[in-house]
This record gives sequence, C-alpha cells and structure tokens, in this order.
Amino acid sequence: MTNMINKAIATVIPYCPKKFIWVFSKKYIAGVSVQDAIKVSQSLNEQGVCVTVDLLGEFITNIRQADEHLEEYLQIIASFEKAQIKGNYSLKPTSFGLLIDPEKCYQNIRGIVALASKHKNFVRIDMEDAQRVDQELLLYLRLKRAFPNNVGLVLQAYLKRTQADLEELLKEHTPDSPLNFRLCKGIYNESADIAFKDGEKINRNYLKLLERMLCEGVYVGIATHDQALIKGAYELIDKYNVPKDMYEFQMLYGVTPKLRSSIVADGHKMRVYVPYGEDWFGYSTRRLKENPKMAQHIIKSIFVK
Ligand code: FAD
Repeated sequence: MTNMINKAIATVIPYCPKKFIWVFSKKYIAGVSVQDAIKVSQSLNEQGVCVTVDLLGEFITNIRQADEHLEEYLQIIASFEKAQIKGNYSLKPTSFGLLIDPEKCYQNIRGIVALASKHKNFVRIDMEDAQRVDQELLLYLRLKRAFPNNVGLVLQAYLKRTQADLEELLKEHTPDSPLNFRLCKGIYNESADIAFKDGEKINRNYLKLLERMLCEGVYVGIATHDQALIKGAYELIDKYNVPKDMYEFQMLYGVTPKLRSSIVADGHKMRVYVPYGEDWFGYSTRRLKENPKMAQHIIKSIFVK
C-alpha cells in the first residue's frame, strides 16, 4: 500500500506547482545565486567539510543555454577561488549541449577544466541517465588526456555494465594520469534490463566496485547516505589499510547531516555536493521521486496543523 502511495506521489510530482516543490527543495538547494552557494560552502568549510558546487540546469534544448552555463561556470570558479572555498566543481554534460552538439559540449567543458586546472583545482563529470553513459565515458577520457589530474567521473552501481566499464577504465590508470571516481548508486529511473532494481543487489555491486577501485589505488569519492554502505566502506578501508588521501566520503547538501558529522568525527574526509541555481525544479523533482516519503511529510505539514 505504502509503495502504491509512493508511486502515485512520484507520478504527480512533476505536475506539482513550483511553490510546493520549493517547500521541499530549499533544504537541498543552496539558493539561486553564486553568492548563496559561497555562503553555504563557507559554512560547510567551517564544519570541516569541503564542497563540490554544481550549477543546476541539465538536459538543455537550446545551445545558447550551453554558452550561458559556460559563462556562469567560469564565474563560479573565479568567485569560489577568490573566496578561498575548500572545494571543487561538478557539472552535467547535458547542461553544455551534449544532446545537441557533442563537440561544442566537449569544448565548453574543456574551457571549464582548463580554468580549474589553472587554480590547481578539479572538475567532476556527473553521470546522467543510461543513454548518456557511452558519451560521458568518452568525454571523460578525452578530458583526462588533456588534464590528467584535474578531472574525474561518476560511476553508478545500479548499472549492470559498470563492472565492465570499470575494467576498461582501469587500463587508463597510470601514475601520471590517475583515475578519479565518485561512486554512487545512481538516481535515474532505468529499466530492469540494464539496471539492478533490488536494493541488496545494488549494495553488493557498490561494495564490489569500491573494493576493486581501492585495491587498484584509484581515488574514490564514496557518495552515499546509506549506513550499510558506509559500514562496508569502513571495513574495506580497514582491510586494505587505505591511506586517508586516497578516498573521501560524499553526501548531498541537506541530506543526513548527523551521519555526515559522525563520519567527519571518525576522521574521514567529507565533501558535500552543493547544488544551486535558478533551474532548481528538475533537480528537486528527481530527489522527490527518489524519496517520495519526503513528499508525504510535506503534505502532512501543509494539511495537518
Ligand atoms: P539510499 O538508500 O537511497 O539512501 C539512504 C538513506 O539516506 C535513506 O534511507 C534516507 O534516510 C537518506 N536519503 C537519501 N536520499 C535522500 C533524500 N533525497 N532526502 C532525504 N533523505 C535521503 N546519481 C547519479 O546518477 N549521478 C551522479 O552523478 C550522482 N552524483 C551524486 C553525488 C553525491 C555527492 C551523492 C551523495 C549522490 C549522487 N548521486 C548521483 C545520487 C545517488 O546515485 C543516489 O541516488 C543517492 O545518493 C541516494 O542513494 P544512497 O546511496 O544515499 O542510498
């Protein structure tokens, strides 16, 4: 019954008034301006947490928006470096025209990585839906050739193909050009043909991939709020005596802050993903679909006084 209610909520979410979605979103979005993102990042830095900032606005349909995103990212980097924020940058290739003009998308992102590398900083390519994986793998490898230490990729444990992708990518792992991954479960709604749907299977695959990465000396951003995965990661770190500068934990802004603090208190590096921007709607509806219980809480707080 609860599952049916959650499914129904997930279906109607995209049609909800923006005002309603904002009630939920403000907890997860740093704000609409780069100054908002800096303020949130400074506060996280003070808590001993570094950040990765992301300008919202994926799956653009007009190539002019790609230029706007490029300009804004260059501004973000200039502003964040000036404010001496402890953090790096995350971006989604579909924000830069991957669906419209892949070469332009590459050139745009190359410009961003070039500026980050001037500041000895780093750009993470988020992984989007399954149809984009081949293109985003190639994009990453091309950027890595140009900027061997300034770019990383995300891999998703729910995809059945990820194990094979990892084995291929490991061939590109060299001391001068090391791989650098964020490992997450995956957030898009993929079909059972290509993705594990069962939570336990996803977790098993996650830990298998993490073990392989840690054993191969790949730097990993362990991106999860799942206590079972965090426990599993702790065990692997202990088992292989992984140095502290070879991994970090990562969480989303606004999600499980207590768990985040406990990981920091245990002495591990933590990075929080700080999304901001005018285009918060798509990001928020995805988070709501992922966790419809949140919508139930909001509905309750609106109707049950
Ligand atoms: P879950 O089992 O989903 O969550 C564990 C617990 O965390 C839940 O029980 C709940 O208490 C809490 N929780 C999780 N999410 C929420 C939420 N939204 N609101 C409130 N509580 C919540 N996915 C991609 O496909 N591509 C990416 O590039 C990508 N980048 C990411 C970057 C970071 C730093 C993180 C943390 C996640 C990223 N994700 C990305 C999303 C990821 O794939 C998962 O969908 C998301 O992290 C939830 O999975 P989980 O491991 O936290 O486990």
